[in-house]
Amino acid sequence: MYRTPASNRLHIGIFGKRNTGKSSLINALTGQDTAIVSDVAGTTTDPVYKAMEILPIGPCMLIDTAGIDDQGVLGEERVKRTLVVLRKTDVGLIVVQPDTLIDSFEEDLIKTFQGKKLPFLFIINKSELAGKAAQDYLENNKLAFIKVSSKTGQGIKELKAKIMELAPGHWSPIPLVGDIIKPKDVVILVCPIDNAMPQGRLILPQVQVMRDCLDNNATAFVTKETELLDCLKALKGKPRLVITDSQVFEDVRDMLPKDIPLTSFSTVFARHKGDLNAYIQGVYTLENLKDGDEILIAEACTHHVQPEDIGRTKIPTWLLNYTKKDLHYEVTAGGDFPQDLSRYKLIISCGGCMVNRREIMHRIEKAKAAHVPITNYGVLMAYLSGILERVIEPFEGGLLKINLDK
Ligand code: SF4
Repeated sequence: MYRTPASNRLHIGIFGKRNTGKSSLINALTGQDTAIVSDVAGTTTDPVYKAMEILPIGPCMLIDTAGIDDQGVLGEERVKRTLVVLRKTDVGLIVVQPDTLIDSFEEDLIKTFQGKKLPFLFIINKSELAGKAAQDYLENNKLAFIKVSSKTGQGIKELKAKIMELAPGHWSPIPLVGDIIKPKDVVILVCPIDNAMPQGRLILPQVQVMRDCLDNNATAFVTKETELLDCLKALKGKPRLVITDSQVFEDVRDMLPKDIPLTSFSTVFARHKGDLNAYIQGVYTLENLKDGDEILIAEACTHHVQPEDIGRTKIPTWLLNYTKKDLHYEVTAGGDFPQDLSRYKLIISCGGCMVNRREIMHRIEKAKAAHVPITNYGVLMAYLSGILERVIEPFEGGLLKINLDK
């Protein structure tokens, strides 16, 4: 379970006023002392992430948020962090106590969840305590709730079942390749080994695609581009699909007969993590850019910036060469996605390998609402290299046609 990437887990955000027992609820769900639990209100200062398994959903990430009713500078910072958590949340739990007077704090959360069409559930925690104010409010407003006691364990099993009920359909990621291959298909993965590769292992997207092939009872062959022809010769028939690293796309395309579907890892993940159609529409904005236009490069994590960083160096250079325009760039990283997008002519999102689909979709929805085109690194690179049509073809009927022909 611990090897499941965080970005592939169902993210369960646990919200509520200070001292309603959010941390102890997590401990009750996980059966471990994970969160910081104290009788002193507001002990949990930062969101605490806990990876756990809730069967049969599978791997989850429980997020214990900071108390968002705190005042002062520290409190404001806590509020900001909690709202960032909300963007990653697939299912929200709002924790109250039996005697909690539900007010604008919870009502704002309800509005936010409803506005984002995010499934949520009220938890009346500490059900061993007296009071009925919270239950009366929830019943009067027809809001779903469940009563639990983190102390005695009462209701925890039912809560897990409720989470399972809420989760399906809301968090299921778009498949990697599972919907475009069949059992017994052969898929070739082209993985160049250069200085940028980590020592002694493949990178996570390559491993994830390999696993998806196995999960779908297909066979995955892994080769470098230099051995691709040998690999093709060794096969009795044609592979169903070839997936290559974008860096060697042109070499692979030139070697591969046109009737063998070809795509790239970055395209597979652009669809898996985001909205491939939106990215494709967005990339055509390059044709209309003018001098002085502002471009937002939105990176989803604060990774170590390399000298030849893709967002800060490579993309501005590529776009200068392609558009010949004097474009202005702003780079955001991690949770810092601007509230006001109106000044940007194009948003270029990173691949989002470290975050979940909801986080990326949140950005895409914000861009759409602001009528600002959005694309991502993978689609942009494919477009600039003139290979976009070929890499999206397997997802637009090419493989379906082959399947029907057989
Ligand atoms: S692609 Fe992955 S590593 Fe790069 S900025 Fe985005 S989330 Fe971070």
